[in-house]
Amino acid sequence: LGTRFQEIFKKVKGHGKLSEDNIKSALKEVRLSLLEADVNYKVVKEFVNKIKEKAVGEEVITGINPGQQFVKIVNDELVELLGGTNARLTKSAKNPTVIMLAGLQGAGKTTFAAKLAKFLKKKGERPYLVGADVYRPAAMKQLQVLGEQIDVPVHIQEGSKDARGICSDGLNVAKENNATYVILDTAGRLHVDESLMEELKDIKKATRPQEILLVVDAMIGQDAVNLAESFNNSLNIDGVVLTKLDGDTRGGAALSIKAVVGKPIKFIGIGEKIDDIELFHPERLVSRILGMGDVVSLVEKAQEAIDEDDAKSLEEKIKNQSFDLEDFLKQLQNIKKLGPLGGILKMLPGAGQLGDLAPAEKEMKKVEAVIQSMTREERKKPEILKASRKKRIAKGSGVEVSDVNKLLKQFDQMKQVMKMFSNGNFPQMPGMMGG
Ligand code: GDP
Ligand code: MG
Repeated sequence: LGTRFQEIFKKVKGHGKLSEDNIKSALKEVRLSLLEADVNYKVVKEFVNKIKEKAVGEEVITGINPGQQFVKIVNDELVELLGGTNARLTKSAKNPTVIMLAGLQGAGKTTFAAKLAKFLKKKGERPYLVGADVYRPAAMKQLQVLGEQIDVPVHIQEGSKDARGICSDGLNVAKENNATYVILDTAGRLHVDESLMEELKDIKKATRPQEILLVVDAMIGQDAVNLAESFNNSLNIDGVVLTKLDGDTRGGAALSIKAVVGKPIKFIGIGEKIDDIELFHPERLVSRILGMGDVVSLVEKAQEAIDEDDAKSLEEKIKNQSFDLEDFLKQLQNIKKLGPLGGILKMLPGAGQLGDLAPAEKEMKKVEAVIQSMTREERKKPEILKASRKKRIAKGSGVEVSDVNKLLKQFDQMKQVMKMFSNGNFPQMPGMMGG
């Protein structure tokens, strides 16, 4: 799938503006990528239409290519769809805050209960765990063992079949012990069924939780939407916990749930261990779904670094062939603003095999030093550079005269290339950011 998305770079052709024509096949790739990531097909359809509307007519920023720009638009819309900002856990004004977990059997509720308790404890809270899975024989024992591991008290009533009673008793005990959070671990079933929902509704009524979190296994894919809808219809959930994102799922379930049910993802589970919990960050999941390396931050950096007016006048200069060493220096400095070259190139998908970039950076610094040792006039008219001037420049920049010659020759070649391109519409520096 990563490869599929990389194709988008190649498929968005041309420059200047994104048009319905040049993004057509890229849109198709977006659609397929999302479907492959198990995003619900209705969600995908709406999303693709939205992207199309957003992208068509958009000016392409100088310094990046249309494919990169397109990916940035897709990325931003996905982040927006996933909630824009990080959704935080509620804290009620009066202790304790009650958090009720719900979800199918095996989704990871009990594990998450312990993870969340430790997460809260680290923040200085006093969590209390309540084990209300009265069906699975070892369920309460499982929670108790986890509680001991993280040194958090656990309320269970072995032998009891009254989940609702365990929860309200547990809440009282937690209050007596000055807990700031109570986490209710409930039972699940293999499928959504009425008796499960009734039990959960009962627990909700008895404990009035501030947060009902639906725990969803990220690997269930397309089923996520129906699951989330039925839990939400019965319980009016406050948020979602997506577990098992350490597997090879891309996490498309998150997109579907947020788009269809409208409830935020609050936490993710990324492993079986108690510390394998993270607050949900939409940007991270999107980058996982797209598998695009970090193209997005590259585009953001380019947006910051390259002044649009500068770019326009550069384009003019290339067209009328008045590009000189002064302009060249400016371009080098623009590239430097983007940060170390290695960092920039690493963000591009497929750039892993580029190898060591230190020599290229060293070369850039050298070129910069040489140009800086020239007078303004020399930069504008390099043809006046004869032996004595070259010697002076070489000395001033700590290089050999042969380095100065090499630079002048390269610059000359570059101008030849520019001349060729200036007949067409060429908005970028050849041999630099192109690609
Ligand atoms: P419950 O039935 O909803 O309470 O689910 P459990 O908490 O008992 O978890 C079921 C299985 O999933 C256990 O083997 C857990 O170790 C595992 N599990 C839970 N969360 C994660 C996770 O984020 N990543 C992985 N790889 N496994 C998890
Ligand atoms: Mg459990």
